[in-house]
Amino acid sequence: MTKHTETAGQYPVIPLRTEVQLPGHVGPLEIGREASVRAIEAATRDDNLIVIIPQKNPAVRDPGQRDLHEVGVRAEIVQVVKHSPGRFTCVMRFLERVHIDALVATEPFLIASVSPLQASASVTADHLLATTAKVRDYLLAVVTDAQNKEAKPERDARDARETREGREGKEAKEPRGELTRAQVQAIVDPDKLVDAAAPYLELERDDLTMLLIETDTMKRLERIIPSLERQATVLRLKADIGAELEGESSRTHRERVLRDRMRQIQEELGEQDDNAEIDELRKKIEDSKMNDEVRAVAKKQLSRMSQMASSSPEYNIARTYVENLLEIPWNLFTEDRLDVSAARAILEAEHSGLDKVKRRILEFLAVRKLAPNKHGPILLLVGPPGTGKTSLGKSIASALGRKYVRISLGGVRDEAEVRGHRRTYIGALPGRIVSGLKKAGSMNPVFVLDEIDKLAADMRGDPAAAMLEVLDPEQNKDFVDHYVEVPVDLSKVMFICTANQTETISQPLLDRMEMVELSGYTSLEKLAIAKNHLLPKQLGEHGIGKDQLDIDDELLTEIIHSYTREAGVRNLEREIAAVCRGAAVRVAEGATAIHFDKRQLEDLLGPPRHVSDTAGRAPEVGVITGLAWTPVGGDIMFIECRIYPGKGDVRLTGQMGDVMKESAQAAFSWTRANATRLNIDPEKLANSDLHIHLPQGAIKKDGPSAGVALTLAVVSVFTNRPVRHDIAITGEIDLRGHALPVGGIKEKVIAAHRAGIKIVFLPERNLKDTLDIPDEVKNQLDIRTMTKIDDALAVTLGDAPEVPEPEPAIPPPTAPSRSNLGDRLPS
Ligand code: ADP
Repeated sequence: MTKHTETAGQYPVIPLRTEVQLPGHVGPLEIGREASVRAIEAATRDDNLIVIIPQKNPAVRDPGQRDLHEVGVRAEIVQVVKHSPGRFTCVMRFLERVHIDALVATEPFLIASVSPLQASASVTADHLLATTAKVRDYLLAVVTDAQNKEAKPERDARDARETREGREGKEAKEPRGELTRAQVQAIVDPDKLVDAAAPYLELERDDLTMLLIETDTMKRLERIIPSLERQATVLRLKADIGAELEGESSRTHRERVLRDRMRQIQEELGEQDDNAEIDELRKKIEDSKMNDEVRAVAKKQLSRMSQMASSSPEYNIARTYVENLLEIPWNLFTEDRLDVSAARAILEAEHSGLDKVKRRILEFLAVRKLAPNKHGPILLLVGPPGTGKTSLGKSIASALGRKYVRISLGGVRDEAEVRGHRRTYIGALPGRIVSGLKKAGSMNPVFVLDEIDKLAADMRGDPAAAMLEVLDPEQNKDFVDHYVEVPVDLSKVMFICTANQTETISQPLLDRMEMVELSGYTSLEKLAIAKNHLLPKQLGEHGIGKDQLDIDDELLTEIIHSYTREAGVRNLEREIAAVCRGAAVRVAEGATAIHFDKRQLEDLLGPPRHVSDTAGRAPEVGVITGLAWTPVGGDIMFIECRIYPGKGDVRLTGQMGDVMKESAQAAFSWTRANATRLNIDPEKLANSDLHIHLPQGAIKKDGPSAGVALTLAVVSVFTNRPVRHDIAITGEIDLRGHALPVGGIKEKVIAAHRAGIKIVFLPERNLKDTLDIPDEVKNQLDIRTMTKIDDALAVTLGDAPEVPEPEPAIPPPTAPSRSNLGDRLPS
């Protein structure tokens, strides 16, 4: 190796895997690789000088020239401490940066030929001088504080990082020789200043590598300025805090000072000023009418927030929570207007008919007025869709002068939808009840819970159980939403539930409510609703003046009969809207007075969609009209019966449920038992198979209410007597031939009337259910009662046709198409 007194020459090399050393300090270096050990041994035998070069890629075990940077640091070995054979620590004085000209040997250790590094500057001398002065000033601040031991955390952090990295050629974590202010003042060379500053800063490996290999002095200075600035600022503020806290024992003062300082630090660091946000929330909490318990919870969240970085997810969760708490209208109530006659006027103005329901609602309001602090019952409005349940809820709210909210519970399966998700869930929010209150903006709104019969339950909990708590006056004073966690008082809320049926509502829920039934509307009622409410409403929504469009009763009736088939008026409203849209086009084109006739109606709505079920029908053997009740209203239902040669078997098709199948068996048994009396040929009975079919085979039908109709159909087919097509029958049978009462009479009778039926047979014991059937229906329909099948037999079945029916095999379904039926036709 060439001897040298100058920098240039050949030196043994220690490659550093991860560490990057800059000159200007003394520090230890751990040596582990065999080649490095040999290099140290060679140097100590010589003049103790060595060159340290960082590797480009720490993963390379035996680096060659390409794996090393072109700049290294010449160092002098001050002391060697052996730990074990082949492992020792060297204390080095890192002298200066050198350029690596070439690796002249790789075995048994690396030897490099080096030359002094030529510094350059890309700016004017003055510029360089000014920047150097700036760096020096910063460094002086840092050094002063470092001597006060205030800069320690920065270095501790760095040291900790280094310790974790565990590697060869590792710089030790003992403090380096710290500079004094005088020493800093004495550094004239800007590159030396950079080297001196680097150990005080939190620099990444990339920064250090840049500082090592960069020859442009200005660039090196600029690289460390941001870190220096930051370091100086943090230390200054920390010193200030320490000073202000000295002698200050008051906790609140301490908090305030700390918060102020934190804000200053954040401002200096260019971070978002969260405190403004927190202060704003704090003010809102103070102004809110929430009770003390809630306020304490909200404030606790704020103090948590003030300790978090605003970018952290926890901060956002806490902020959303506080915002949600603020949006709940704590202790905000609207004043009730308990004026029964005003309420009556509003109900009358907004809804036609529904007298019984309105009366019930007024009673309810009157009781509220007389006993305001009593928990009134919860109203449950039950009826087919489109009968005004939801809009009644709205009218009740306006009659009482309360806010109105509505939530739909249809298809809600998850308890969390009612009660909220716990805040630990990502994206958790309050449940629908609390969200409803937020929307209402008061704690005593009229709260309509729509479709409570369609709550479902699955493994995600039972929402019905949560609803129980919501509706229970004993419990809902302290309703706990999983998200909100603090109790919310629901006791002043007026809940109104709506449902299409009560069968699917759990009994405990049902027990808490008082049921008010709404039934389907007759054509006349629909006409009145259309004329007085739906049409004016739609005209308004389409911007058409009252006198611009003339739709007479005849046309409205045509829409009701030919374009809708429903218990309520929802589709009717839709069709009227379609007519209004058509009118809107003409008004926009300049028309002033529009009158639509039937033909124009067809242009707007298409050809009539529904024809009367009885139109074009004639008495037929084995085909009878039954009546069905469904959650969407009543309907008529055809029953077909055929016999063909066989052994007395019965075949039942058309998706009959078990109960209905049993009714069919009973019908056949009764017919057999009474065969002689009914003049049925015993031969025919014994040698025929019976097939009963209910058209619309895709829809499930069940319930016992078709019993009488089934029996009459069987008798018709065995006696070959046709059944009158304008009669409809409902009633259960027993084997003795009694007609037993069934449900849904009002809906069924209205449906029979809608379908153009002339005579309806009901079991005698159902007579009481006919009382509130509208007069319009009663006047046009002959409602008869029966105690036994025989009572209906003679009227329903005519004489045997003169030409006996041919014996067909299995007949095709003959019923006209129907819509708007639910998928079950129970009793
Ligand atoms: P539901 O909740 O029973 O399904 P809605 O309340 O949604 O029915 O009613 C559907 C539409 O029919 C609404 O526009 C409602 O105002 C109107 N409506 C229903 N019944 C009446 C009625 N008796 N008088 C006036 N409008 C009615």
